[in-house]
Amino acid sequence: MQNDVQELLKKITRKNVQDLTPYLSARRLGGKGDVWLNANEYPITPKLTVHSDLNRYPECQPLAVITRYAEYAGVNPDEVLVTRGADESIELLLRAFCEPGKDAVMYCPPTYGMYSVSAETFGIQQKIVPSTKDWQLDLEAIASQMADVKLIYVCSPNNPTGNLLHDADLIKLLEMTQDRAIVAIDEAYIEFCLQNNKTAWLKRFPHMVILRTLSKAFALAGLRCGFTLAHRNIIDTLLKVIAPYPLAAPVADMAAQALLPEGIETMKQRVLEIEKNRTYLIEALSHDERVVQIYPSFTNYILVRFKDSAPIFKGLWDSGVILRDQSKQLGLENCIRITIGTEEEMQAVVRVLRSLTVA
Ligand SMILES: *Cc1c(COP(=O)(O)O)cnc(C)c1O
Repeated sequence: MQNDVQELLKKITRKNVQDLTPYLSARRLGGKGDVWLNANEYPITPKLTVHSDLNRYPECQPLAVITRYAEYAGVNPDEVLVTRGADESIELLLRAFCEPGKDAVMYCPPTYGMYSVSAETFGIQQKIVPSTKDWQLDLEAIASQMADVKLIYVCSPNNPTGNLLHDADLIKLLEMTQDRAIVAIDEAYIEFCLQNNKTAWLKRFPHMVILRTLSKAFALAGLRCGFTLAHRNIIDTLLKVIAPYPLAAPVADMAAQALLPEGIETMKQRVLEIEKNRTYLIEALSHDERVVQIYPSFTNYILVRFKDSAPIFKGLWDSGVILRDQSKQLGLENCIRITIGTEEEMQAVVRVLRSLTVA
């Protein structure tokens, strides 16, 4: 029986899905830890309550969530789409703009893994243009590979490197793509450097899209709630391909609460606390002989290059401190990404690191 199913699946599963390596989320990677610093989550859960009637289908685009996020982001409500995490928006853009076997999507590694996983799932051709040595856009290489590209993902601040893309480069990218492609700027971590947000550019560049999430500074990764900001005609196009009920009613309920003025104030307090803990960790690591470089970060994580990261990663893992290995990513040999957690968690990282006898 088992064999029959295997044979059947081999025959009928789409080729690109057979070849697909699923996104290795922090949860899928496992580990037995007390200190979870591998998914850029906030360490403590907000307390929210549910009031929804569950007998009714939810609104597709819950009004309170849309209007409150629009107010928070400083855009019009018709320029906002709410989705099942920013990850769903990454997919919707592909579904709306890229035809398999015809169009291409572009992104610039090292960067967030879902751009490639989603493209593979849909069977969309990928134009992979590595970023420059200092993790900025390689505009010349981008320009030379624009044929068939309908969609470009850029990430600023970038995951996992933590840096911002230069404004001047983004402007050039937006100018070079006008009338031919969508440029999606992933601002999942923008709350940690809010003054760098690009919403003001939406008026000037109608082909620009901004991705946001409640998973990071809003501390609600488990809620699965993200936002797309764009020209209202782009939002309307995405509404054609979104599921009829993308958000469960309790999710909409809790997202609306998180976006009340006191929720936004709490989020800002979190950002300050994370910055303080980040400063502490950077200072402590800077005295460690095994550290080659700590890269500047505008986010709730830092990327650290070690002389030899494998034994460090494993030593921490075995002691219950779970970090994210980035050493397989393009140009990130011996790099580990460390999410900034509580003060106690940062002290645990430092304590365990000191206890490791590896070089
Ligand atoms: C975490 C993350 C996302 C996904 O956010 P969700 O809303 O949880 O789906 C998107 N982009 C980047 C760069 C991220 O780090």
